[in-house]
Amino acid sequence: MDFEDIRQWQGTAEAIAKELKRQIARLGLSVEPPAVRTVRLWRSKQLLSQPKGQEFRFRQILEGLGVALLLKRGWTLAAIAQVLPSFPDATLEQQIIAEANCQDPSWLPQMQTTTLPLPTGHASAVDFAEDTVILLAQGILRQYTRIINRDIVRQYDKSIPSELYRAMCKLGRLYIEAGKSDRAACVHTVLERARYPLDEWELDIFCHPDFRFGQAILIDSDLRVPTSDCAEIANSKGTFGEDNVIEHRLYERLREATERLGIRRQHKAYTALRSLFGSRSLIGEHQLLDYLGDNDLTPLQGTIVDTFFDSVPDVWLINGYAHRCAHCGTLMRPYADRKLFPDGRCPIRQCLGHNSSTAKVSEKLDQNQDRLLIAKPQILTYWTGPAIDELAIFEAARKNGLDAELYPESDLCDVSINGRNIGIDAKSYTSPVSLALRLNRTGIGGLEHYRRRIIAVSDQLIEERPDYFSTFQSAIDKKGPPATLEIMSVSQVIELLKVIKYEN
Ligand SMILES: [Zn+2]
Repeated sequence: MDFEDIRQWQGTAEAIAKELKRQIARLGLSVEPPAVRTVRLWRSKQLLSQPKGQEFRFRQILEGLGVALLLKRGWTLAAIAQVLPSFPDATLEQQIIAEANCQDPSWLPQMQTTTLPLPTGHASAVDFAEDTVILLAQGILRQYTRIINRDIVRQYDKSIPSELYRAMCKLGRLYIEAGKSDRAACVHTVLERARYPLDEWELDIFCHPDFRFGQAILIDSDLRVPTSDCAEIANSKGTFGEDNVIEHRLYERLREATERLGIRRQHKAYTALRSLFGSRSLIGEHQLLDYLGDNDLTPLQGTIVDTFFDSVPDVWLINGYAHRCAHCGTLMRPYADRKLFPDGRCPIRQCLGHNSSTAKVSEKLDQNQDRLLIAKPQILTYWTGPAIDELAIFEAARKNGLDAELYPESDLCDVSINGRNIGIDAKSYTSPVSLALRLNRTGIGGLEHYRRRIIAVSDQLIEERPDYFSTFQSAIDKKGPPATLEIMSVSQVIELLKVIKYEN
């Protein structure tokens, strides 16, 4: 199998379209041959390196086959345009023939292995790995921000953010240097893997003790939203410029909505809405209107429904009903393995309903009775999930007769006790390092206003990572406001609240 008979080939756009079709059939490649129109588009995007007005040649046949093969792997045209010029003809030929023989070639850009040798020595290799992950986190955030802003994406302009592309190249290099096949060639594969902790990516360097992000998960596994860890890693060099972009935007939108009610009602409204997202992220439209009415929020009804909720899609019903999680109240989703989760699985990582042994349905709701609304995935990730701990602490404080407030003064902290005596923030970063980095970089926020400042970490995270506290302590600043923080597990905080009661 070779290209001997077409090395001297020359022809028009029509002719190359025919020739590509012939070559695809001859090599048995499972790709669609491009139409003449597509050939012209590829030329205009400089995927085919031939100036307008000149005839196509052998090089462009190789490029045309390369583009078709890479598109099939999920590459975008922009990514292909950056990589293709780096392949000499001979390499392109080899890659195409490997594809024809189903050998799964790497398509690794040439410049990576030839001109940029991986730095030697542990320190520099770890730096390289961290830089890769920082770029990846930035790329993931940019990609997600584009999606939620619903950029108009034209069919041939699905360019991936440059950070994501550069991260993929670096990751590819890490795999190749580790003697593994390139598992970073396709953006979908990389994003899929980002739903698991980095130390499970089968790269030894991500498990190295000096590599700081091993425990981080970049994309929430079920809700498919970039995590707080992702946001923090993206910003860990302070150059990304968008601070915890998703959570910040949500907060701004809620602030804007509540500000319209006037200064007196604003804080109460904020607390009412955050409590709503915390405990009733799945709600019937009429129920929602009642809740808004009870809390003096009726003027915000339209904004709340449009900005923070979606209708429950039919694919998430189970036998025609929406299942409510008995633990957190959100919508359980059908799970592929019905034996494991017969009533569906709660998509929230922090919830007991996320595990098969404790998943439990409390209610089966009928869409025909009341149109059902579910909070958007970014709300579930940033507010509903963390609210499990926040509400548990708040309830415990109330039960012990303490003067507790939830999200006081539009989120000065999560739970305050006895006015400005104690401020508590619950955090669910999977990586203690990204939590510490965040506090070092942005300060301790509203907690500054409290005499005693407590960070509460989910029990589940402490169980999974017994070194969570010691790692956090080693990374947190030893001077300034971060040094004044106390860190404990949620159950330790709840125990503490009992003692405070007796002291009163
Ligand atoms: Zn749940």
